[in-house]
Amino acid sequence: MQVRRDGVPAKDGKAIVYWMQRAQRGIDNHALNVAVHVANELKLPVVVYFAGISNFPHANLRHYYFLNQGLRDVEEDLAERGIGFVMRRVPHEDHLRFFHDVGAAMVIGDENPMREPEQWRRLISKRLTIPFWTVDADVIVPSRMLGKAQFAARTIRPRLKRLLPDFVQPYENPKATKAWQRTKRLFADDVELDITRGWKDLDRSVLPVEEFAGGTHAASKRLKTFVNFMLGSYGRERNRPEVDGTSMLSMYLHFGHISPLTIALAIEAAVKKDESLRGAADAYLDQLITWRELCVNYVLYNDRYDSLEGAEPWALKTMKEHARDERERTYTLKQLEEGKTYDELWNAAQRQMVARGWMHNYLRMYWAKKILEWTPNAKKTMQYAIYLNDKYLLDGRDPNGYGGIAWAIAGKFDRAWGERPVFGKIRYMSAASTGRKFDSKRYIAQNS
Ligand SMILES: Cc1cc2nc3c(=O)[nH]c(=O)nc-3n(C[C@H](O)[C@H](O)[C@H](O)COP(=O)(O)OP(=O)(O)OC[C@H]3O[C@@H](n4cnc5c(N)ncnc54)[C@H](O)[C@@H]3O)c2cc1C
Repeated sequence: MQVRRDGVPAKDGKAIVYWMQRAQRGIDNHALNVAVHVANELKLPVVVYFAGISNFPHANLRHYYFLNQGLRDVEEDLAERGIGFVMRRVPHEDHLRFFHDVGAAMVIGDENPMREPEQWRRLISKRLTIPFWTVDADVIVPSRMLGKAQFAARTIRPRLKRLLPDFVQPYENPKATKAWQRTKRLFADDVELDITRGWKDLDRSVLPVEEFAGGTHAASKRLKTFVNFMLGSYGRERNRPEVDGTSMLSMYLHFGHISPLTIALAIEAAVKKDESLRGAADAYLDQLITWRELCVNYVLYNDRYDSLEGAEPWALKTMKEHARDERERTYTLKQLEEGKTYDELWNAAQRQMVARGWMHNYLRMYWAKKILEWTPNAKKTMQYAIYLNDKYLLDGRDPNGYGGIAWAIAGKFDRAWGERPVFGKIRYMSAASTGRKFDSKRYIAQNS
């Protein structure tokens, strides 16, 4: 927990406010639970506040639609715990005004390592005159406990492993002892309505994806399906893009609709019932914990997480040496966006991203590396990859995206490989070997 503004709760305060930003869920949420404990101690009610802002960086209609669906579950789940919920959207989302309107005694928030949300929290902590604490609710091991940037999965893994037993513990999900009553005069927007209505500048060109419904309830359902029917084959099927053999929980994790701890606990419970799942569970938890928290660590401790400067010195050197290498062919951003390259596998991956709002991990690696081959320089590759990733993927705009793109294009978390044109020492993936590892024809047909 971080104390962002010290002091004692306002004596005449009428409620404890949880300013919900990233952890958009009403259960299994350590930030919310801290708010409830404090409120119960002070015999005050808890009200959760969510600000619907219209200019979240790189967000478009697809993302807002998913978020909107999630807010309905938040309201329902909070009501069961005796906790109030108020969403105020642009133009009504003045945070300080809300804290004043409900008579906040203190504010609890969650954490997000991304640049903009961190700036908002810093600004608010300067302006608040009541205590403000934040709780790292969307990772298993609180990110600041590692203290510094970690260079690779092999360096973060043992550190996380040592700390995990303290944090892989069931949630308490306490109820509020004093229920929050909304006064008639207190303004709240309706989460049942379209949160984006009237927002003139919002990019509405990317349509919602019907295949994935947002929210904690859909996420829990997906988790159950994965654990009950798919976990056993995860080790075998996770690298087969033509089979949906992975959990597809990344978008729910991104929006905080589900917590990584909830997932880890469900996986461990399944192993307890059936020890033969241990191998698959370990492979899964390594992605969910080691790789995911490595990306969070990267964004938290590296200001340049979305540019080439986030790379290691060996990678910067090799990229510089190959900056002027001639590309066999180049494509414009428009050609890439429309999936109009000579490479049918790449086009299919791009189409999967545009149509489904999701892309298989194996192809995300190939997809980003190919852009490096086809753009005039690595700087442009990074811009194009981030633009497309964040625009179309429901799980885009996430530390995993910046970490994954930096891995593919700038060798982040990787080692130097054999020298070759354009890539230098950055790991290469060829179409022939990638296509041989799974049924690429079937994948192309599925995404035609
Ligand atoms: C170029 C590139 C771009 C990417 N962009 C994103 C992005 O925008 N958002 C995003 O969430 N992930 C991104 N990833 C990481 C990974 O591809 C996705 O998290 C994963 O494919 C999501 O599918 P899943 O939930 O079925 O994964 P599963 O295989 O079921 O894994 C479970 C969870 O583990 C985490 N995870 C899995 N693989 C990785 C990985 N390689 N790095 C970090 N965490 C991982 C995710 O949170 C995932 O939901 C990117 C990877 C690359 C190489």
